[in-house]
Amino acid sequence: MENWLLVGSGGREYSMAQKLVENGNRNVYVAPGNPMMDQIQNVGTIDLDEMDFDGLIEFAKNNHIDWTLVGPEAPLSKGIVDAFRNAGLNIFGPSKVAAQLESSKAYAKQIMANQGVATAAYQEFNNADAAIEYVKKGSFPVVIKANGLAAGKGVIIAEDEAKAVASIKHLFETKPNSEVLIEEFMQGQEFSFIVMANGTQVVPMQIAQDHKRLLNGDKGPNTGGMGAYSPVPQFDQSIIDGAMNDIIKPVLLEMQNQGHPFTGFLYAGLIQTAQGTKVIEFNVRMGDPETQVILPQMESDFGTVIESLMDGDPIEPVWQHGRFYLGAVIAAAGYPGPHKDHLPLPTFADDIHVSYAGVANVDDQLVSHGGRVLMAIASDADLKQAQRKVNRALQESVNTDDYEYRTDIGSKAFK
Ligand code: AMP
Repeated sequence: MENWLLVGSGGREYSMAQKLVENGNRNVYVAPGNPMMDQIQNVGTIDLDEMDFDGLIEFAKNNHIDWTLVGPEAPLSKGIVDAFRNAGLNIFGPSKVAAQLESSKAYAKQIMANQGVATAAYQEFNNADAAIEYVKKGSFPVVIKANGLAAGKGVIIAEDEAKAVASIKHLFETKPNSEVLIEEFMQGQEFSFIVMANGTQVVPMQIAQDHKRLLNGDKGPNTGGMGAYSPVPQFDQSIIDGAMNDIIKPVLLEMQNQGHPFTGFLYAGLIQTAQGTKVIEFNVRMGDPETQVILPQMESDFGTVIESLMDGDPIEPVWQHGRFYLGAVIAAAGYPGPHKDHLPLPTFADDIHVSYAGVANVDDQLVSHGGRVLMAIASDADLKQAQRKVNRALQESVNTDDYEYRTDIGSKAFK
């Protein structure tokens, strides 16, 4: 048996753990994980915080951990990969410097500019007056982003000057030492393209489409993600090949040129505009909820793919063909604001696969704990049918006084 350590606790990590144990030859320890993961055979949670690098390194050494994978961004941007490598341990992820592709929008923009990778025009400001002067001269809508990690919630799309000025003022009043990026608004449909890289070689995964807004029709506030599906049939192979050649490969080359080759999962958040595919952002990890609909399609052993890639062996994972995976997140009522907690968990019919995220064990009862609680996933050869299965299951099983969810996951593919 191999032993793997997985850092994180959400739905993404639930799916990663499940995939890693699929071959029957691997134990997976998840730190800190969530209590539903303990119910997966060969998976166990351990009571260590994702930021407790010393504790995690000690655990990895004492338990003969072969490889460590990291789900969320925070430990990566704080240097967990450097810490593990310095301790002589195998870990798949980017160094602290390379993780700035996600943690610093300004860094990512510079890497892209050096290679002429298509992205929104932008300017960076460290005071409100200059930022306000700049937006007044530009066009609307305009995008205002706080520099640094904001878990998808640091982005404001201002429809007009009044909203832009108010947003900038609010940002500098609440966080006086902020940096803000003012970005050109890009119009188009988004998709997520995640690859695995070892510094030079790259292995693509199937593309997915996230649904960041809370409500149907992309209305309401931004969230961590309310659902996803994969593959995304409206983007054909030529678009994916173009993204690989014109975006992913140049960025990996630039990271090498800078002396910081990128290892780990590189997630390109892309948008298909009238002028072609452009970059919205990079993440340095797998996406949540994209992971939950991408990994089930991988027929090769996930762990072997990573090990082979890191050994520099040629590797082309086998993907399932002709099947769509579609999942909707159920979130505690009130999310992304103050929300209900310790709610009973719904149960679903057998044709639904559930990936658990915000759950806790309270008085020996498994209950919701957190905003995004679980994702209900169905698969089908027909995407519309997969959506129907999920929606039917949600309608049958989920109490809408307790939970909120979207019913239009995947609908952009039908237009
Ligand atoms: P981010 O935190 O950069 O992922 O942005 C969150 C969401 O805001 C993205 O998924 C887009 O829907 C939207 N967004 C960010 N930047 C832009 C842009 N320049 N043009 C249009 N939409 C954007």
